[in-house]
This record gives sequence, structure tokens and C-alpha cells, in this order.
Amino acid sequence: MAQGTGDVAPARVRGGNKPHAVVVALPLQGHIIPVVHLALRLAARGFAVTFVSTEAVHDQTARALGVDPAGYDVFAAARRRRRAPAGGEEEAPPPLGIRRVEFLGALLHALSAHVERLLRRVVVDPASTFLVADTFFVWPATLARRLGVAYVSFWTEPALVFNLYYHMDLLTQNGHFRCSEPRKDSITYIPGVASIEPSELMSYLQETDTTSVVHRIIFKAFDEARGADYVLCNTVEELEPSTVAALRGEKPFYAVGPIFPAGFARSAVATSMWAESDCSRWLADQPPASVLYISFGSYAHVTRRELHEIAGGVLASGARFLWVMRPDVVSSDDPDPLPEGFAAAAEGRGIVVPWCCQVEVLSHAAVGAFLTHCGWNSVLESVWAGVPMLCFPLLTDQITNRRLVAREWRAGVSIGERGAVRADEVAALIRGVMGGEEGVRIREQVRKLKGTLEAAVAPGGSSRRNFDEFVDELKRRCGGQQQH
Ligand code: UDP
Repeated sequence: MAQGTGDVAPARVRGGNKPHAVVVALPLQGHIIPVVHLALRLAARGFAVTFVSTEAVHDQTARALGVDPAGYDVFAAARRRRRAPAGGEEEAPPPLGIRRVEFLGALLHALSAHVERLLRRVVVDPASTFLVADTFFVWPATLARRLGVAYVSFWTEPALVFNLYYHMDLLTQNGHFRCSEPRKDSITYIPGVASIEPSELMSYLQETDTTSVVHRIIFKAFDEARGADYVLCNTVEELEPSTVAALRGEKPFYAVGPIFPAGFARSAVATSMWAESDCSRWLADQPPASVLYISFGSYAHVTRRELHEIAGGVLASGARFLWVMRPDVVSSDDPDPLPEGFAAAAEGRGIVVPWCCQVEVLSHAAVGAFLTHCGWNSVLESVWAGVPMLCFPLLTDQITNRRLVAREWRAGVSIGERGAVRADEVAALIRGVMGGEEGVRIREQVRKLKGTLEAAVAPGGSSRRNFDEFVDELKRRCGGQQQH
């Protein structure tokens, strides 16, 4: 495992004959967590791994831990457990000068040249190397071809979302996308998807202006995804069987999820971009299954009005709660967006923290439900922890993820649409999920899904098997060559 300390994190792996994975992380929290744990899994299976991240992510992760970014080695804990093998010697070259990548536009335009420069240094033997890059990057297939290495596209969202983006051309031909007045009837022609409503598509596929930077990224990224040699997806075959089967018809597509930190506990390798508040003492004092955990993830924003309706609903429900309130959840200019008097009204039954170790919180016996924005990591974590969900998706795949959670799996309920969420309805839904018959039914469904996830990663399970097949294939393709 290689990780440097400067602008980017390369290292050159010399000696030995291990196949070499160059893993490039998309600099967003919800992508970094699974890709770090994927990289660790690859290392555990005998691949030499070069992990590429940006200076901004490196610095922020170090600062979240309260350590000086200069000289900080994110992977030190992993290295302590697994030293470089005999004959494999790591040498960290000087920083290569990738500057902070803070804007999606910069991701689109600037990053690929830097990654190419980096790859030209770390790819010693193309035949024994493969590139693992987030599907949302706009250059991996082109770059991999130029360098003569295999490209593994890593998809951190459900297979359904990959499938819909992959078939944007069908949506366009049928008048559901990229036109001024998209059709409103059900979509019945996507391979592996019997029927989906236009309102369940990812937010970007519901927009009529398709000229934004994000649209350009999605269009280019999925051109590149068509050129991928393999796709690894952080999902479980049994959760989305028909979609996974359909995608397998397109290309080698491996459902290898859920990808979590080892033991579903605080990660030994730091991945958090914000300092985590310790909620364990407060949780320890709460009765079992009495706490509503609330979080909107790392990235999306809510409006002040939506926040006030939800806050009103939480107070009226009478539930205890632990609320993660990112300081920018409404906007950076509005660091205290909760209604006046909220803190006093919540005294004794709830706490608000800026960020926490979510897997630890979800695992706690005191947590009884999760009011979530339906980010895919949060959905998988909630299922793994056996916690029912109240869904309030905000944008992008979260809307489609809610379809899976609430409509297909019945593992949660929707609390309303953006702009139309109402305090009295939120309160009733919280009471229903945490106390009512609805809650009993949902909890039972989540329990079954949890069993599905556990079986998938157990010996003989689908995700275990799929990962083994992927590893065998990559070793067959890249394994036998000597590195020079
Ligand atoms: N997370 C966390 N602490 C928090 C909130 C979120 O550790 O206070 C983690 C969470 O466990 C998940 C990730 O951040 O792994 C968020 O990813 P997700 O896909 O759920 O949402 P996104 O942030 O990408 O919208």
C-alpha cells in the first residue's frame, strides 16, 4: 500500500511479481470511504496497491484527526499490520504537484493530465498493472488505453443507478430525457428494470437543462464506463438481481458489496474528512431502540424551510434523537439554521453534533431508526445495522435509492418530497416507524435484508464469490509478469 504526503499520494512498487493496482479516489467523502476499503481488500488479496488521492483530501483527513498533514501517513495503521512483502520495496517519490481539487469543473478539466503524469511514473509494467478509478471520472478508459493497462471502473452507488445512466440513450430516444417536455409515464424499456417512474430517476435525469457541469461529467463518465474492462459495484446481487443480471450481459460486472470498514467499526485507516464527535456516552444512557439518528450525509444541502419542518416533526414526535448537523447543511453562510428555541425544547432528549462516526452510531443498541438522505453508503450501513429508515432524498442517486429502500424492499418510508415535507406528517411517520405496527413490519424487512447482506459476504456468498472471481481474473490477466 503506498501513500505519500505531498500533493498526491503515489509510490513506486519495485521488485516482486505482484500485480499492481493503481487506485484513484474521487475526492468526495461518500466515495473515499468505500474506495479506501476496496484498496485494503485488494492489498489483502496480494495486489500491490498505489492509492492516489488529492492534497485537499489528505490535509482535511489529517486535520480532522488533529494531526499535522505534513508527514502524516494515512495508511500507517494498515502497513503496521501488513508489512511490504519480501522483495517488494516501496519508494515514495516527491510530490507531483496536483493542486487542490475543490470544484467539479476542475475535476472535469484539470485532473486527467496530472493523473496521466503520475501513472506514467508508477506504471512500471503495463501488463501487470490495472487502473481502478471511480466511474464518475471522465478520463479512465482513455487513459488506460493510452498506457496499455486494464481499467476497472468502481461504482459506489446501486447497480440500478449505473444501469439508468448506462442507458441514457434509451431514455433520450423514448422522450424521457434530454427534451423540453419529458414523458411522465412509466419507463419500461431499461434492461433488467421492469418499470420505473420518471420521478424515481436520479435528479440529473429529471432536469430539462442538461448543459450543467454535472451533466457534462455524467455524459463523459458513462462514455468512459462503456470502455471499462470490468466494473466493481458496491452492491449485493440479491438486492438488485434483475439489474445485476442485465448489466452482466453488457460487461464483466461484479457486485462485491457491501464494502465497509473491517468489523463495521471505526476504520483503522482514517477516512473521515471532519472531526467525529464522540456520542457513545450519551447513547449509553438511552433506552434500547429509542433514538432517531438523523443525517443528510456529507454533501447535499437542505433548505432552511425543510429543516424547520423536519425539526418541528422531530420535536412533536417525542422521540429521542441524535442529529448530525453539518455546519454547511443549509449553506456556509447559515451555520445555525435550526429554529429558534429548538435547543431548549430538545433539552434532555436530543443532541446535535457536527459529524460523528456513523457506523458506530448505527451499531448502537439505542438507535431505533435513521432519518436519512438515502446516500448509498448510509443505506447499506443502515441495513447492516438492522435500522429502519425514514427517507428524505435530496438529489442525485438518493432519489433512486429511496425507490429501492421504500418501494422495493419496504425497509423504510418516505417522509415527503423536497419542498413539500410537513412537520405533522414527519412526526406521525417517526412515531409509526419507531413505535407503531408499521415499525414492526419494517424492522422485520430490514432484519431479512441484513441477513441477505451477511450471507453475501460469508464464505460461499455472492459478493465473496464475485470478488474471488474478480481477483482470479485480474491475477490471470496481470499476475504472471515480472516487474522491472
Ligand atoms: N458519515 C459519517 N459521519 C457522519 C455522516 C456521515 O461517518 O456524521 C459517513 C457515512 O457513514 C457514510 C458517508 O459518510 O459512509 C456518507 O456517504 P453517503 O453515500 O451515505 O452520502 P453522501 O455523503 O455521499 O451524500
